[in-house]
Amino acid sequence: MNYGKIIIMGAYDNWKLKSPDDEGCSMVSSCCGAEYEEVYSEMFDEDKLLCNECNEYCEEIEDYEYNEIQRENYLEDMRDE
Ligand SMILES: [Zn+2]
Repeated sequence: MNYGKIIIMGAYDNWKLKSPDDEGCSMVSSCCGAEYEEVYSEMFDEDKLLCNECNEYCEEIEDYEYNEIQRENYLEDMRDE
């Protein structure tokens, strides 16, 4: 869980620094908030999004959406400790 925490901290900082309106939406992978590429999957017989970070298929979400999810996780984490 330490590994995830580092990412969350980074995303949290980003979230603090810029608001969603600062720039047009850029899409990121829903799992890691990272870049992804479209690849054809024979298994699904369609184009899927492949996360560059963890190499898993992912959904695309807007980066501020991802940051908000991370922020919620972060706050929840704080509550647990
Ligand atoms: Zn990922």
